Amino acid sequence: MDFKIRKIKAREVLDSRGNPTIEADLITKSCCAKAIVPSGASTGIHEALELRDNDNKRYSGKGVLKAVNNVNKIIAKKLIGVDCRKQREIDDILIELDGTENKSKLGANAILAVSMAACKAGAICSHKQIYEYIQKLASSKKLMLPDPMLVVLEGGKHADNSTDFQEFLILPKGAKNFRESLRYGIEVYHCLERVLKSKGYNTNVGNEGAFAPNLNSNEEAVELIAKAIEKAGYSFKQVSIALDSASSEIYENGKYNLKKEKIKLTSDEMIDLYSNWVEKYPIISIEDGLAQDDWNGWQRLNRKLGDKIQIVGDDLLVTNIKRIKKAVELKAANSALIKLNQIGTVTETIMAIQFSKENKFNTILSQRAAETEDTFAADFAVGTSVKEFKFGPTRSERTAKYNRLLRIEEELGNKAKFARL
Ligand code: PEP
Ligand code: MG
Repeated sequence: MDFKIRKIKAREVLDSRGNPTIEADLITKSCCAKAIVPSGASTGIHEALELRDNDNKRYSGKGVLKAVNNVNKIIAKKLIGVDCRKQREIDDILIELDGTENKSKLGANAILAVSMAACKAGAICSHKQIYEYIQKLASSKKLMLPDPMLVVLEGGKHADNSTDFQEFLILPKGAKNFRESLRYGIEVYHCLERVLKSKGYNTNVGNEGAFAPNLNSNEEAVELIAKAIEKAGYSFKQVSIALDSASSEIYENGKYNLKKEKIKLTSDEMIDLYSNWVEKYPIISIEDGLAQDDWNGWQRLNRKLGDKIQIVGDDLLVTNIKRIKKAVELKAANSALIKLNQIGTVTETIMAIQFSKENKFNTILSQRAAETEDTFAADFAVGTSVKEFKFGPTRSERTAKYNRLLRIEEELGNKAKFARL
């Protein structure tokens, strides 16, 4: 069998928001695999760089032909002849070829497309499922189905006229397996639709398939979700609430601007707001509660609430082991959001998960605002046995991942461990 990479070819395709993104094909004599890269809307400033053309004559500057060219003309040449099963070697070559801290020369989008395609090709050539292959790459002891974490109401940069906070999520945790957990979540989602309609709110959806009504306050979102959980017949033990404030986006001149409430809060006032909500509502996780460089604020937030709930760093940590290390040392968070395109290679993402787990951080694999039909994230979550999976709930680019997880659970049968148990 010949596992050497013979050809790599990238092209510009579209993501779920109708913007260009990059797809790469990787071909060996024995197999062919392709991967498509997602894209963020509320991108953190410390993320690896997503290379766009900035040519306003095409796609309002959002084209990715430079990244495509970097794959076809630069990356392909270096990787031809390398064994596609050598993921680490491939990723090291990509990192070295780029040579910058934030992958700004070739683009993290160009690099990740190739890294993911290589991983899929490696799995096919090894006659393994992608999740099994990743389990080996990640030295995970077990294959685990994650807890679904569903965004049911969204605002911020993901919708117009909705809440200031970006995501309000539900975390079903009373079920005995992934399939049942997903059902709990989806039932609450549909119940929320009825609750919103009964109050005269619209039920149009935002980027991630969650409702984006024009509410009177941010807190109202939590109230309505709590109501929907009860109306769906679940207790707060069975289904609880999580937030992603994405607060870097509302951080202006040292204060957090909550336009709905018409107030500007300091870090301490935000922490008080969260403490108050955690007392009042079944909130068990807060992501990006404070801005991406408000380290002192994060330390105080984690000191105040870190014993009770997940304090999750997304823009704060950007799947970057250096920033996760800093958060561990400063005790600034207790959980890491993981997004492959924040760092740009499969190997570095696995290392970020391993490091987080070694330091007792919970790990949550997350979607981006703009997703694609690629279901790699589902296999990646199972293979690396992350605790939670923040996707969807609706629209095919998101349900594709859940449907893949349902199939994986079925395939594994009683070999499948479930994060909750
Ligand atoms: C997030 O902030 O967790 C998120 C999914 O949004 P984006 O992709 O816009 O960063
Ligand atoms: Mg986030």
